[in-house]
Amino acid sequence: MQRGPDFPRNALLIAVAVALVLAGTYVVVTLRPAAQSSGVKVLTTFYPVYDYARNIGGDRINVSLLVPMTLDVHAFEPTPSSVQAVATASILIYNGAGLEPWIPSIVAAADNPRLVLVDSSANVSLLRVPPAFQKENRTIDPHVWLNPVLAKVQVANILRGLVQVDPADAPYFTAKAQAYSAKLDVLDAEFVNLTANPATRFFVTFHEAFAYFAKQYNLTQIPIAGPFEEDPTPSEIQNVIDAVHAHHLCYVGYESLTNPAIAESIASQTNATLIRLDPIEGLSLTDQALGMTYLLKMQDGFTKFALALNHVGCN
Ligand SMILES: [Zn+2]
Repeated sequence: MQRGPDFPRNALLIAVAVALVLAGTYVVVTLRPAAQSSGVKVLTTFYPVYDYARNIGGDRINVSLLVPMTLDVHAFEPTPSSVQAVATASILIYNGAGLEPWIPSIVAAADNPRLVLVDSSANVSLLRVPPAFQKENRTIDPHVWLNPVLAKVQVANILRGLVQVDPADAPYFTAKAQAYSAKLDVLDAEFVNLTANPATRFFVTFHEAFAYFAKQYNLTQIPIAGPFEEDPTPSEIQNVIDAVHAHHLCYVGYESLTNPAIAESIASQTNATLIRLDPIEGLSLTDQALGMTYLLKMQDGFTKFALALNHVGCN
């Protein structure tokens, strides 16, 4: 089986992470102890909005995460403790665009009349998922955060929410949001440069998470699984294999938080190399131990896209 250059390094990193856990020195970064901050109690749903809020709110907020850090957000089901967290929060920041279909039910169950709700993808032009993947009331693609330009919209929405619950700290939040948005501008400029004249505009990703990203940079994703991570059928897998051959692609994406077996099989059958293309729907223990952030994960994605878009004809 063909294995990408990531595997030996990942195995080492995982070994280091496990060793740290066993040595008792590993620190879970999901929740900051309340004693460290008396700031506004900010509840966020999943990793990217948690990281945006942390960067904007700094030491003036006490931010926590509803979906466990290592869990793929698509697989999350709320628990009674989720409802309790909403009941005691001042503000609940979520991705929106249908990523968290359970939001209305936990907000109703929490019965918190002072809660401010922030839909971080408000004002974004949302994309529909392809008809084959539409399910009951799930027709909207939620993956806005993988486009740095739309991440700036999310940051602006979160800033508005934080100012609403803590107007006294508005200048502090505004300055931090501007500094973070400037970093997103740098990331965007890097992707604009990378995609100006690539060897190919096609890339293979594990699940269909890159529609907003691909639209922004005039690329075409070839997903193995659908936007809500349904198991691909044998004919869908064959279509990806055919597309890798047709476009002479050298790389096949897999994700840290999802079983890589199907991506490995496709890479093996096409002589392609596996690369990690994470949709940042959570952070693996390895990434947590490495101190990864949304921006660092996007930068890691940039190096992988630089490989995938600049090489063709390997098979
Ligand atoms: Zn997804």
